[in-house]
Amino acid sequence: MGWLGLDDTDSLEGGCTTATFHALLEGLPEGVKTGVPRLVRLWPFARRRTRGNAALAVELHADDEAGLMHHLEAWWTEHIEPLHGVVAPSAVSDRPQSPASPGMVYYRTPPDGQFYWKAVREEVGISSLPTPHHAWGGSGRIGAAAAVSWPAESITWEAIAWRSTTDQHQQRVIDSDALEEIDGWDGVVFSRDPRNGSGLIAPRGASPVLFGVRGTSFEAAEGACKHLMHSPGTESVSGWRVFQTNQASGDHLPPPQIFTVVGVETHPTRKHAMIRTDGPTVLAYAEGGPVNSVARWLKAGDTVAVAGLLHPDGTLHAERLKVESWEPRTFQRPRCSSCDVRLKSMGKGQGLRCPSCKLRTGEAWEAVIVEPPYAGWVEPPMDARRHLARPLAWEDADGTM
Ligand SMILES: [Zn+2]
Repeated sequence: MGWLGLDDTDSLEGGCTTATFHALLEGLPEGVKTGVPRLVRLWPFARRRTRGNAALAVELHADDEAGLMHHLEAWWTEHIEPLHGVVAPSAVSDRPQSPASPGMVYYRTPPDGQFYWKAVREEVGISSLPTPHHAWGGSGRIGAAAAVSWPAESITWEAIAWRSTTDQHQQRVIDSDALEEIDGWDGVVFSRDPRNGSGLIAPRGASPVLFGVRGTSFEAAEGACKHLMHSPGTESVSGWRVFQTNQASGDHLPPPQIFTVVGVETHPTRKHAMIRTDGPTVLAYAEGGPVNSVARWLKAGDTVAVAGLLHPDGTLHAERLKVESWEPRTFQRPRCSSCDVRLKSMGKGQGLRCPSCKLRTGEAWEAVIVEPPYAGWVEPPMDARRHLARPLAWEDADGTM
């Protein structure tokens, strides 16, 4: 019957739009049916961004639409509007956080996917908002509408559990045995860092979220969430819910481009690499692991394929790199044509001589054959990828993205 979207309600007390949305869904009048709610990640560089830049949406079915609107109006005024203007905690991030500007939209018919594709790849202004049947609040309306217009072409699932405690600075307690178990389940993904086994399901910093466990099916996410919640070593939760998401879709990335390298500079202490090219300057963060290694290996004249996001400052932030072609790094003397022994220099400008058969030739060099550190595409380690990043292992065998 209609679609509701919500965004930008992160609050000073460590709120989270998912918790606000969960409360809204729990508080819907009797008789209102809901579809599977959506958690939609949007363009990571948006000026007005909340912590994870995620917006929420859900399909609603009610016999009494006017009654539903009346309810939403009252709910907005009582529970969501008061969150306006508070600043989300930035303990985990040095990026500037904007004060919350909650927004909610209701569409009788969802806008087509075009608005989503814009909002996941670039800055979107409120003026391009498809006109909702009803709207509340500020710039959160943009993300809210984008979540409604998501065409859900590439889908994963996340089951979120919220904490019972109101003291969000208290250390989270999640059963580590249960976490290890679910990490091995079919369809459960990104739960633990494969390099050291550390958990990747709990947010850092103050938030009502205890954990979010991700899966490639609704059942996988739901089953893992229940197993974690019902394990003795996990603290009590106030509620949980499974969301359909665009995480790991790769929707944010335009097709890769190929550039010729002009030079590479590495930050002396932080090891970020800046690749100067015939196109934009390409940034590869130290946390990018293999992406950073490849970037630092590159030399002038090499060509490199880059999949990444163009930052408003003009730099291209690499999420995937692939060395396409490369220049020789070092040179050596050729081998003797008759006995295959490496020729030696007779002195500057004196030509070369075979130490075995004494054959003499003029000056000559050949390139030492080198290989790049990785042959194909590389991506950052799991804990350094964006929510939107699609793992390389999920791509088709032919390498299309
Ligand atoms: Zn020889």
